[in-house]
Amino acid sequence: MADAPEEPKISKRAAEKEAKKAAAKAAKAAGKANAAASKPTGPPEPTDPFKQGWLKGVYGEKPVKDVHTRFPPEPNGYLHIGHAKAITVNFGFAKSYGGACNLRFDDTNPSKEEERYFTSIKEMVSWLGFEPAKITHSSDDFDKLYELAEELTRRRKAYVCHCTPAEVKKGRGQLPGGEFGPRSACEHWSRSVDENLAEFKAMREGKYKPGEALLRMKQYLATKPEEYEIGEEDSVEVKKEKEKLKALADNPALWDCAAYRVTKNSHHHRTGDKWRIYPTYEFTHCIVDALEDISHSLCTVEFETLRPAYNWLLEELDMKERGSDEKGPMQREYGRLNVEGTILSKRRIAMLVEGTALGAPATTDVADDMDEMTLAEEGETEPEAPSEAAKTVTNGTGRKIPPAVRGWDDPRLFTLVALRRRGVPPGALKKFVLDLGVTKANANTMTHILDASIRTYLERTVPRLMLVLDPIKVTITNLPDDYVEEREVPFDPKDKEKGTHKVPFTKTIYIDRDDFREEDDPDFFRLAPGKSVGLLNVEHPIRCTSFKKDSASGKVSEIKAEYGADVPAGKARIHWIGHSAAHNSPVRAEARIFNPLFRTLKPNELDWKNGGYHDDLNPDSLVVYKDAMIETGFHHIREHAPWPKEEGEARGTADKSSVRFQGLRSAFFALDADSTDDKIILNRVVSLKEDTGKK
Ligand SMILES: [Zn+2]
Repeated sequence: MADAPEEPKISKRAAEKEAKKAAAKAAKAAGKANAAASKPTGPPEPTDPFKQGWLKGVYGEKPVKDVHTRFPPEPNGYLHIGHAKAITVNFGFAKSYGGACNLRFDDTNPSKEEERYFTSIKEMVSWLGFEPAKITHSSDDFDKLYELAEELTRRRKAYVCHCTPAEVKKGRGQLPGGEFGPRSACEHWSRSVDENLAEFKAMREGKYKPGEALLRMKQYLATKPEEYEIGEEDSVEVKKEKEKLKALADNPALWDCAAYRVTKNSHHHRTGDKWRIYPTYEFTHCIVDALEDISHSLCTVEFETLRPAYNWLLEELDMKERGSDEKGPMQREYGRLNVEGTILSKRRIAMLVEGTALGAPATTDVADDMDEMTLAEEGETEPEAPSEAAKTVTNGTGRKIPPAVRGWDDPRLFTLVALRRRGVPPGALKKFVLDLGVTKANANTMTHILDASIRTYLERTVPRLMLVLDPIKVTITNLPDDYVEEREVPFDPKDKEKGTHKVPFTKTIYIDRDDFREEDDPDFFRLAPGKSVGLLNVEHPIRCTSFKKDSASGKVSEIKAEYGADVPAGKARIHWIGHSAAHNSPVRAEARIFNPLFRTLKPNELDWKNGGYHDDLNPDSLVVYKDAMIETGFHHIREHAPWPKEEGEARGTADKSSVRFQGLRSAFFALDADSTDDKIILNRVVSLKEDTGKK
């Protein structure tokens, strides 16, 4: 019918206009219908990662109104990238279900706690964009914990044991070769309640030195195989009960673990000299979860074998119903984030930061041996023996190994303070964690996967500038001395919202040394004698007519070139910075380029006992360009940080590292903490493309 002769003829443009109008009308109507349809269920949240998959399942197991989680770091070190997952999971889960998350300092180990760790942990949580409902300390509950330990003793579920660490191990069936033999309870197991209470009090009052007394939980160490051996005449129910008992009796986490110990250094950061005995992680963690009304106690998978012990203690103290998660906290475990290609172990990072001396006398610390019975803290790559550095005793060469990095926040490390200093945006880290997924399985990844994720994140979220790392002066001979052309340049050609700025194009410009070759090559498309190249954001190309070299260094010191419509077009466009005193251009900067700290991709497999790791350090892990130059648009970017705006630093948590930009054809950069008003120092966040190691 469209081609019916009586149809009035309309122009193509008018027809398009009509069609657009009709489409808009239809869209509006559809929108209204959608809004009406979705009203009862509220706004759709298809992208909330906490309402999908494993996390959704965890909520489904305990769908309470008041979701309450906690992030419980030990304040004895700096957090690393693995903790970014723990923070994101705990805070994000609570936030997503309208609940609250506490930041709890698990400060039960007085000898290892320092103020700087508390401060840094608080800062990192807030930098990642989370606000704790409360900041608590396990030490807040020391009185209550002590009372509960006494109560447990009164209930015949704890005893004071004076066995040596070796005897404790032997009783637990732990043979020297890591094998397990038969288990047995020690002579202290059968003490009376009164004797136990008196001895526990004596521990508190300082009668015992570290290693001389332990309060142990009376779990399943004394359970004999005949109690759970299934007999032919056993009924189905009895068999089931026996199977349950066998599982508990076979779990090392239930072999009468320590609840309280006497510590070597008893002065506590918060409670001073009040206590000589301190509760263990196993005793403290679940009780404090219950005292803080935690509904979902989320931790990493290595704690899964500890879950029966977690429940056992709460059940024995009537803080949880037997065999049910309905009342009291419910522990669930997600896979940890493992990043290969870097070192995350606190003790190893300490060796990198502080250096280490080989051949120093071994420190055999009974209290440390006792701590070995507890697990490594959350977030460590692997459970490890304490004071690895102190125990690195070999042939007694007395070799001193110097520090490999400048500090805990050295951008070559993967502590959170280091990643922040390097310029990694908090939103990129959270996205990285969630993109890898939160499930029961460990998320194993590599540093270059993280870099790729950061790169994608920064691509459209930060502005772009021209930056020259290693400048060569170019004099454009056919321009007048006072020539100034202000070129209007967008901060992001694909995002008008970021705006534009002006850069001066003048007779003297600077280009990157990499973009010039003294001898031309048919495969080289940038500047060379007699060859043209285009300039980004400038109308015409330049052609090199001659160059000069510095006699001392042998390096090219100046290029002479001509510019204009007559110059033949080049095959590429390069970045540049114009010299203009009136514009205070260029802006001078020091640029620090970070490369992997080690040559191997698997630094955890290096020799950390005898210092062999030091021989594998990458000599080019830090490359400094002292005379880098940035265009004047940098001032605008510095004033308008943080970049990115969305999912970036909130007000108050933005420091210098939030000044981020993409150096065109170069890399992503961020302002370093050492920068001052007079001296700009930039850190490379990531390269623009993955560095394959090939030139
Ligand atoms: Zn004993």
